Amino acid sequence: MDAVLAKNDNSDVIAADKAHVWHHLIQHKTFETVDPRIIVEGKGLRVWDAAGKEHLDGVSGGVWTVNVGYGRETIAQAVRDQLVKMNFFANTLGSVPGALFAERLISKMPGMSRVFYSNSGSEANEKVFKMVRQISQRHHGGKKSKILYRDRDYHGTTITALSAGGQGERSAHYGPFTPGFVAVPHCLEYRNQYDSAEAYGERAADAIEEVILREGPDTIGAICLETMTAGGGVIVPPEGYWERVQEICKRHQILIHLDEVVCGVGRLGTWFGYQQFGIKPDFVTMAKGVASGYAAISCTVTTEEVFDLFKDASGDPLSYFRDISTYAGCAAGPAAALENMRIIEDEGLLENTLSMGARLMENLEGLKEKHAVVGDVRGRGLFAGVELVSDRVTKEPANEAKVQAVAGHCMAQGVIIGMTNRALPGFNNTLCLAPALIATADDIDRLTSSIDEALTAVFS
Ligand code: PMP
Repeated sequence: MDAVLAKNDNSDVIAADKAHVWHHLIQHKTFETVDPRIIVEGKGLRVWDAAGKEHLDGVSGGVWTVNVGYGRETIAQAVRDQLVKMNFFANTLGSVPGALFAERLISKMPGMSRVFYSNSGSEANEKVFKMVRQISQRHHGGKKSKILYRDRDYHGTTITALSAGGQGERSAHYGPFTPGFVAVPHCLEYRNQYDSAEAYGERAADAIEEVILREGPDTIGAICLETMTAGGGVIVPPEGYWERVQEICKRHQILIHLDEVVCGVGRLGTWFGYQQFGIKPDFVTMAKGVASGYAAISCTVTTEEVFDLFKDASGDPLSYFRDISTYAGCAAGPAAALENMRIIEDEGLLENTLSMGARLMENLEGLKEKHAVVGDVRGRGLFAGVELVSDRVTKEPANEAKVQAVAGHCMAQGVIIGMTNRALPGFNNTLCLAPALIATADDIDRLTSSIDEALTAVFS
């Protein structure tokens, strides 16, 4: 890989940042003793910071977004061409890339039919919540308005998205929340909450039905779940879970909303994660990998049956979905998304994700054999988690500061990994890996050997 040259002296940038930028998810006191690490350039899986240091990025831009890697000239070109031709018009009308991307996307999602554009994962999820509420009001006389969400899942940053959020530390301080959201238990088999471990997946799904029966099925319109929980600890749905969840939802006429903001667009090795679990959703939301961070775009995708509920020939002016996000009219998003999808297809990145994902899991299993602190490893495609425990028998979560020290050690070695950071009370003990879908065997080996060294350094 050619060296990419960050400017040698970025002290002016760092000074400007320290004076005026409010960073995300950071206690700013930190910057009294260390400088913010500003990323200046990227190519492939590598990024260079303002000090010129090279890093192997194991988390695709920190939050599992840059699926096709950095420095993609053809995406930049597609966006440029589109912007000089037609940059923006409100999505009440339409755009050429908006139409073409919707068609291409739906061709990868048999059974789905309509694409509603917005800008972020949170927004895409809120669109579903609004659709469900409108369906409730127009078709169920105001009943079926509640929405179920699951412990440990995350659906976004707004107050309503946090109302559907199962990560306690993310919502601390921000209440009161939007009413009508009801929690169901998580399905992390490693931390089985039930008396018997037998048929855990079905038992975890039945726990959802217990909540439905307690609340009253006619009060519940939808369930919102991450297909595979990402930041909440990398929770792969246990065997039998999704089949049973679907069967329960069908029985109680509850719509299924899958949040694929992380799992969508190749991350798990299929276009969408749910396609590995045989689920037939009513809504699918996606954001991060849709344009790999080259432009802001998110999508709420529905079936034609859902779409039909918003059509009304009676002339009632309130019958349609009365929603708009201004910047969904920016044509850069779908232009980038179209080229992003072409790259994934033409470069065989789904196949690469499956084979490199298998290598990643194999390497992580090796770490589990070697380090007693590794309690569990789990994942699908190129999204993996390593849960650290101080005791394998009691499964007591490892000390959070030490888990952070592992990530810090990797960073010092020029490898960026993530963790369930300040999300789950008492359970911020899982390291997360989600490299770009172009990762090679060498990249995977470097990521895992860096964790290997860090575990030795921190825990022995
Ligand atoms: N859903 C999931 C599963 C996510 O991981 C995230 C972001 N990490 C969101 C929704 C929210 O997306 P955004 O930050 O783009 O609003």
